[in-house]
Amino acid sequence: MPCYTLIMIHEILTGKKCAESMIHEILTGKKCAECRGCCFFDKNDDWEIPASVTATAANPDSDLLICDFLTECGCSLKEEKPLECAIYPFRVMQLGGYRVIALCVYCKAVTELSLSRIVKFTEGKAEEFFALADKHPEIVKKYNPEYVILKVEMHDCAEKGNG
Ligand code: SF4
Ligand code: SF4
Repeated sequence: MPCYTLIMIHEILTGKKCAESMIHEILTGKKCAECRGCCFFDKNDDWEIPASVTATAANPDSDLLICDFLTECGCSLKEEKPLECAIYPFRVMQLGGYRVIALCVYCKAVTELSLSRIVKFTEGKAEEFFALADKHPEIVKKYNPEYVILKVEMHDCAEKGNG
């Protein structure tokens, strides 16, 4: 059964498992284990830190923050990791009156893929991304121009009174 259907029918509480398996269609866990790049944050970009975790400076003079849940063996939260982490390097962002699906260009593993594959994946999963954002509005961040917009959510004209 498609992940999307599971989300809609069972209204699962976190959506993380679905989100992770969705992302793993194009990004292997092995790649992430070798990288862990998204567990490090620039002090000036602390909005990137998932709301449910904390991060600490590598040293007192450093601008580099490291997630407190990152261990030698990877993320200690495993299946309990925040949804933002489960769908990374994709994000649902708010740009004016629209939600968009955007990609972080600093994730090498995904940007090594062809643009057509990334676009096809995003098109195919757009409803799932937006459904997750409906359930977890805290993951929707203000649009940041460092992210590449892959999909803009279209409003239903009838809903807006234009139909
Ligand atoms: S930056 Fe990309 S490849 Fe690296 S850990 Fe994050 S999602 Fe995985
Ligand atoms: S919760 Fe886990 S996956 Fe998310 S930033 Fe922290 S260590 Fe990385």
